Amino acid sequence: MDSLRRHILDLSRRGALRGAAGLAALAALGPMPRRALAQPSFRGFPFTLGVASGEPAPDGFVIWTRLAPEPHAPDGGLPRAALAVEWEVAEDERFARIAAAGTALARPELAHAVHVEVGGLTPGRPWFYRFRIAGEASATGRCRTAPAAGAAPARLRFVNAGCQHYEHGHFTAWRHIAAEPDLDFVFHYGDYIYEYGGRAPGQGGWGPVVRSHLGQETIALADYRQRYTQYRLDPDLQAAHAAHPFLVSYDDHEVDNNWAGDVSEEDGRGRFPVIVPPEVFVLRKAAAFQAWYEHMPLRRAAMPRGPDITAYRRLDFGTMARVHVLDTRQFRDDQPCGDGAKPACPDVSRPDAQMLGAEQERWLLGGLADSPARWNIIAQQVPMMRRDLRGGAISMDKWDAYPAARHRLLDGIAERRTPNPIVLSGDVHVALAATIRRMPGGAPVATEFTATSITSAGDGTETTPAGEEIRSRNPDIAFFHARRGYCVSEAGPGRMTTEFVSVPFVTRDGAARETAARFVVESGRAEVKVGGG
Ligand code: FE
Ligand code: CA
Repeated sequence: MDSLRRHILDLSRRGALRGAAGLAALAALGPMPRRALAQPSFRGFPFTLGVASGEPAPDGFVIWTRLAPEPHAPDGGLPRAALAVEWEVAEDERFARIAAAGTALARPELAHAVHVEVGGLTPGRPWFYRFRIAGEASATGRCRTAPAAGAAPARLRFVNAGCQHYEHGHFTAWRHIAAEPDLDFVFHYGDYIYEYGGRAPGQGGWGPVVRSHLGQETIALADYRQRYTQYRLDPDLQAAHAAHPFLVSYDDHEVDNNWAGDVSEEDGRGRFPVIVPPEVFVLRKAAAFQAWYEHMPLRRAAMPRGPDITAYRRLDFGTMARVHVLDTRQFRDDQPCGDGAKPACPDVSRPDAQMLGAEQERWLLGGLADSPARWNIIAQQVPMMRRDLRGGAISMDKWDAYPAARHRLLDGIAERRTPNPIVLSGDVHVALAATIRRMPGGAPVATEFTATSITSAGDGTETTPAGEEIRSRNPDIAFFHARRGYCVSEAGPGRMTTEFVSVPFVTRDGAARETAARFVVESGRAEVKVGGG
């Protein structure tokens, strides 16, 4: 018997591993891959990219790390062999009361990332986890199991954040998110990386260059891996991942700006005269999705199969909330009218417009029909609210350009009398709060909170002329704020409060946490109101 099996049996004997968890840990070891278990020696600390957790369920969650002793060397400085990594989950930060433990293989095919789906835990409480290999231990991460099915927790706290262009600023907002108390999860709506090639400081282009991307525009798997590695080395981002479980989603920049289905941004129109045809673009998508999976705390169900991935999913938090995580990129139609912001062309009113695709739309409406939850959080990427822009233009990349799809969803919510639908979004690099109606002046159907960017577009300002115009043209938009930050919400039985947190600058480090505004949604009333303690 090898030492690891002995260790687990010993933990079981001491009662540290509850029966089922102990057996599961032993079973998960499978037949011992002796070669893989050889103790490797590294030229540096193997856990340079930190730890992460995600996908909280009542009985467990995913814990993640990736071995990279030399993060920017080929293969992270590792041999092309599977390496066995030990993991532990404990009730306490000192790991005196271990609840589950085992080993997982860090495989070279997946950039030596480790995804462990931990089960057998008690619902609704905090947990601590860490990894070990070759005598080194990772940082300690903190996670939380979801409340038991049917349980009524007193409250649910969560963050909505995304859009973290590395060149545009410091991840100060992530440092503040790491310090947010008692979060049940962080929803990352996407734009975790930006695909653009590196610019020198002072070089022109979109946004400031506070620090440069390594490499050119990401196209191949190695490019995307390098980009995630660079972002994940940031200590503020690592701190946020170590502090809270994440529900991650992707938007466009994880692959290519404004991609839609199998259509690349380079679609032969406007600025892109050279078409990247679908059969070529899917190769890039496959590389992008693989690197995304490798670096995110996702369940095996989200492992891509070539250019296809199932990233939409549902998570329940007792009777307090059901979270529907959507994918508004992979199954949508190409942006109508040649993309961009412009007045609607006839194509916008196509009756079969797809934002989610027929299958995901059916799945979503099903989950909204039988929801056991007081709050139904529709966690997705681009604004669903109406945003009439200057000169009557709309943005062709948002739900505004897919009105038939929006009508089907809002009608579905109204018909099913879904309790308290709350839409989360991002993508536009400004903070917005809005009441969503099927038609202007009609009955409110849902409310929406759009998180501003973590860094994208640089420091920003509180108001802009475009923002003033959006407010005046769209009475249902109650808030516009163009600094960087995130949203933190607290749902209770009677009301949900959302705080818009902002940082006054990102082009320098160390900005303080500021409250830009607070809004309340009363249970049973789909309207955003200023207020909340
Ligand atoms: Fe973005
Ligand atoms: Ca985006």
